[in-house]
Amino acid sequence: MPKLILRNGRVIDPASHRDSIADVLLADGKIAAVGQSLDPSGAEEFDASGCIVAPGFIDIHVHLREPGFEYAETIESGSRAAAAGGFTSICPMPNTKPVNDNATVTRYIIERAERHAMVNVFPIGAITKGSAGEELAAIGSMKEAGAVAVSDDGKPVMNARLMRRAMEMASSLGLPVVDHCEDLHLSAGGDMHEGFQSVRLGLRGIPSASEDVMVARDILLAELTGARYHVAHISAWRSVKMVEFAKARGLRVTCEATPHHFALSDGDMIAYDSNYKMKPPLRSQQDAAAVVDGLASGSIDAIATDHAPHPGSEKMQEFERCPFGILGLETALGLSLENLVHSGKISLLRLVELFTTGPARVMGLDRGTLALGAPADVTVFDTARAWTYDVNKSFSKSRNSPFHARAFLGGPVATIVGGKIVWRLD
Ligand SMILES: [Zn+2]
Repeated sequence: MPKLILRNGRVIDPASHRDSIADVLLADGKIAAVGQSLDPSGAEEFDASGCIVAPGFIDIHVHLREPGFEYAETIESGSRAAAAGGFTSICPMPNTKPVNDNATVTRYIIERAERHAMVNVFPIGAITKGSAGEELAAIGSMKEAGAVAVSDDGKPVMNARLMRRAMEMASSLGLPVVDHCEDLHLSAGGDMHEGFQSVRLGLRGIPSASEDVMVARDILLAELTGARYHVAHISAWRSVKMVEFAKARGLRVTCEATPHHFALSDGDMIAYDSNYKMKPPLRSQQDAAAVVDGLASGSIDAIATDHAPHPGSEKMQEFERCPFGILGLETALGLSLENLVHSGKISLLRLVELFTTGPARVMGLDRGTLALGAPADVTVFDTARAWTYDVNKSFSKSRNSPFHARAFLGGPVATIVGGKIVWRLD
C-alpha cells in the first residue's frame, strides 16, 4: 500500500497533547510516524505548511437518506459532502425507509458504505421498531451487525418506561442511547422557537421547555439505569445546565451541539425561509451563548452537524408544511472557526477536540487520534483561507442551507481516510 507524508503542518493531536510543527507519515492505512524531518523512501509528499494537521474529524449525527430517500441523499453523495467538509467518519441516523431497526438494514448500510462511501460509516440503530416508540427494536443483533449506538432521532421516545427499558438493554450491551429531546405535547406542531420572534412572525412556537423536560427525564433515567446517555443537538440553555449537573454527579451523560445552534439565533431567521426551519429550532441569543459556553467549558462534548438533506420540492412549500432540517457537513468547520476560534471563545486545540476525541468518546470509536498505529484518518485545514460557500456546488444531492453565498475564513484543505486522500481543495 502506498505511503503518504504530510510535510511541515502544525500537528494538533489533543489525545497526545501535541501542538507542534511536524511531519506525519501514513503507511499501510496507519499512522506510521510523527516527527521532525522524516525521510521515508517512496512516500507521496503533501505540503501541509501553513495548515493544521489534525486527526480525522468525526460527525456523530448525519442523515444519509439511504435506503428509501435516495432522491434527497445517498450514502455516496452524503459521504462526499462529509469528505469535502473535512470529516473522515460519520454516524448516520436510522430514520431511513425502512428504518434501521434490525440487523439486515444495519448490514445493508455497512455493505453499501464499504462499496460507495468516501469515508468511514458507523450506523446508529433505532431504539424502537420503526422508531414508532411502541416496542424495542432488535438492539442486540444491530450491535452485532455493527451499530455503534441507538436513537429514534427525528422523534423522541415519549414513553418513559420504554426509555428506561431501552437504557437497560443498551447498557447491558455497552451502547450509548442518543435521544432527540422533544416533548411532543409541548412542541405541539410548532415551527420555530417560541418567543418574541414567533409572535412577530405569527408562527407556532416550540418552547425550550419541550427540550428541557425530556433532558431532565432522561438524566433521571440514566441515573436509574447507569446507562450511557447522549443528548442530540442540544439547543436550550437549561438543558446545557442540566447536562453540566449530570456530569458533576458523575453520570455517564454527554451531549452534542450543531454549528447552526451556536452560529444563529431566532432573530437571524429570514421570515418564512424554510432553510431556517429545523428541530430543535434556532433559539434565542441567550441559548446560543450558552451553547458556546458549554463547548468551551466541556459541558458539551462534540460538535455534530445534524446534516439533514431535503430536496427543493419539499423545502419549497409553505413554511408550515416544509420538513425540518438543513445541510451541515460542508459548512461546519467554517462556522466553528468563525464563531468559536476567531471570536476568541475557544482554542484551536479545543476545536480539534470537539471534532475528534470528543465525538470518538461519545460513540466509543477507536479513532480521533494521530497516535502511532491508529487508523490513518487525517483532516488538513487552514484557519485563514477566505472562501465563499456555494450550495449549488455542494456534493450533497440537496440544496437546503441558510449559508449559501456566505463568506468564511478558514476551512478544510484535504481529507485523508485510511491513508488515502479522498478529497482535496483544487
Ligand atoms: Zn433530531
